[in-house]
Amino acid sequence: MQAFHLSQPASLDAAVAAASAQGAKFIAGGTDLMQLLKDNVEAPTELVDLEHLGLSSIQADGSELRLGAMARMADVAAHPDVRAGWPVICQALEASASPQVRNMGTIGGNLLQRTRCGYFRDTGFACNKREPGSGCPAIAGENRLLAILGGSDHCIATHASDLAVALTALDTVVELRGINGERSVPIADFYRLPGDTPHIETVLQPGEIITAVTVPASGAARNSHYLKLRDRASFEFALVSVAVAFELRDGVVQDARLAAGGVGTRPWLLPDVEAALHGKAPNDAVLRDASSVAAVGAHPARQNGFKQILLQRAVFRALQTASA
Ligand code: SF4
Repeated sequence: MQAFHLSQPASLDAAVAAASAQGAKFIAGGTDLMQLLKDNVEAPTELVDLEHLGLSSIQADGSELRLGAMARMADVAAHPDVRAGWPVICQALEASASPQVRNMGTIGGNLLQRTRCGYFRDTGFACNKREPGSGCPAIAGENRLLAILGGSDHCIATHASDLAVALTALDTVVELRGINGERSVPIADFYRLPGDTPHIETVLQPGEIITAVTVPASGAARNSHYLKLRDRASFEFALVSVAVAFELRDGVVQDARLAAGGVGTRPWLLPDVEAALHGKAPNDAVLRDASSVAAVGAHPARQNGFKQILLQRAVFRALQTASA
């Protein structure tokens, strides 16, 4: 690990100024970053600690949920208002990592965790995301766990966050603070596709920090569900996951929001599935028809074609659960 200086600013302005310097990086819970430092995947010269900025609040009312960027994953998952109004968030958090990691991991840090592509995390290999222009050995190599949607000739890594999938299904807005002030970005626009710059993963500017996420309340959010399929039952990333928020009125689908994880280079919206459900009674035939378009546009690699069928089946199962 490269030596670094740790600063602990007491204000957001000071944190943003410190993190705007060359070689600086924010640290929140550190559950992902510390491993990346130990493996020399990341080598910042300055770490800017966000612990003392008062960003850990969890606030819910009848119109929205607001989670501070430093709210701990475990605290959010256990919060009674979140469990009642946005259960898909709690289920996604509880399906993430281990209890120890959830006690340390933060909402902002979870959204900014790096991909689990093995080539990215092993500096013995080339990787366009870690070292731009060096190549992508995953495309012709080990790609069973990687993306079938949103990839490019330069990168097919999946986004690793379960929470981001749930928040994407719920029309979440990400609140940011940078040297030019505050701004808000819909989470659907927050993550970038890899294109020919896979090392640039979000719309964050240098030094810009996530301060909070806000999630609207709705009938669909109250009736939401997260399904995660993985190779082992705990402490494992998704092969395929599905977040569903679902509301019926007069026996037909009034509102359906779906996003998928483990299949895309960013949390993947499923608008074709939503359109196939709207205004219909959610019987098994309708749910199966809607699920059949979940993988439209997929471009599987040599080892991960199975994800197309697995995604369709996961969508069907998640819809069955949410509509029961
Ligand atoms: Fe690197 Fe992306 Fe290729 Fe993985 S898929 S080796 S992260 S460029």
